[in-house]
Amino acid sequence: MIPSILPTYNRAPLTFVSGEGSWLVEADGRRFLDLGAGIAVNALGHAHPALVKALNAQASALWHVSNLYNIPAQQRLADALVDKTFADTVFFTNSGTEACELAVKMARKYWYEKGEDRTEIITFTGSFHGRSSAGIAAAGSEKMTKGFGPLLPGFTHLEFGDHDALTAAASDKIAAIMVEPVQGEGGIRPLPDACLKGLRDLCDQHGILMILDEVQCGMGRTGKLFAHEWAGVSPDIMMVAKGIGGGFPLGAVLATEGAASGMTAGTHGSTYGGNPLACAVGTAVMDIVGDEAFLSDVNRKAGLLRQKLEGLVAAYPDVFEEVRGSGLMLGLKCKVANSDVVSAGFAQSILTVPAADNVVRLLPALNISDGDIAEAVDRLDLAARQLQGENA
Ligand code: PLP
Repeated sequence: MIPSILPTYNRAPLTFVSGEGSWLVEADGRRFLDLGAGIAVNALGHAHPALVKALNAQASALWHVSNLYNIPAQQRLADALVDKTFADTVFFTNSGTEACELAVKMARKYWYEKGEDRTEIITFTGSFHGRSSAGIAAAGSEKMTKGFGPLLPGFTHLEFGDHDALTAAASDKIAAIMVEPVQGEGGIRPLPDACLKGLRDLCDQHGILMILDEVQCGMGRTGKLFAHEWAGVSPDIMMVAKGIGGGFPLGAVLATEGAASGMTAGTHGSTYGGNPLACAVGTAVMDIVGDEAFLSDVNRKAGLLRQKLEGLVAAYPDVFEEVRGSGLMLGLKCKVANSDVVSAGFAQSILTVPAADNVVRLLPALNISDGDIAEAVDRLDLAARQLQGENA
């Protein structure tokens, strides 16, 4: 008999009932150190007082009015994002997938309004952009698309890192190139800064719109507010979600005035996107994560964690191959099955997240304490010791 929850997830037998900072409490009372942060969502950990306060204040005032009316919390958050980024304008969604849908629509509408037949979007292997029709067509992998055809047409999939293929495919017929500055689901694979710069040049050369998917790598995760800032270039369109809501469902598409020029009244909408509750929390997140001192502390913590993880890789060469990633978006490429590492972590009451390419992701809250970083590495050490023993 089919379970009452559609069985599309293989869930771990864990039930969390409360959380505080980087810690989660299981129903049986065990305390777990959370290095998954709800897959890069709880950017400020669990039950952050400023977020709880913002949510409660908005909840007692007003929950929902729809986008038929002005929403002050939405305006405040849009202004804050425009102020801190390349963008001139923002549309709020409830998820990264919805951000992907709009990014695709926006890019195609841009060319339509210019009277040019440019609909093709270049994407890369190993990418993940959501599970909607546009999202799976964009990613293109068999795992995501098999059985769901006919797929949304108009995506050209290139091998991640194949510069020659990219140069050959880029032309004045391409509408946009969509890429994650750091692939998350694909196994924490950063696009080197030089490649992102090269991609920008290629886009400029052919008038192609550059769409960055910063759903997982954005909002301070790499130590800059957005990951592309490391390369000193900016996109035309950017997808954001996850960390921007700190745990409350919120996403956004940020764009330049030019890229957004086709999106006039009536061309897109969302009942819930940009609702008062989400935007009140999102503003509280931005107030904290958008601060330079906070971001420099993320970089310091990232250095600390990375150094300790390098030690772990050196100590357990039969378990781990390398550390990869950027900021607090780190991956341990495993020699044993990554699912075994995640399970061994459960036994030590630490949460990590598997990714493709046999990688285990470490995506802690951006405000994780130095003490919790040390504790996390101690627990990973115990997990690795057990696995090393089993594989000896
Ligand atoms: N894009 C990237 C890079 C993601 O990592 C994800 C989710 O993991 C998505 C898009 C889809 O976001 P959501 O699950 O919020 O719809």
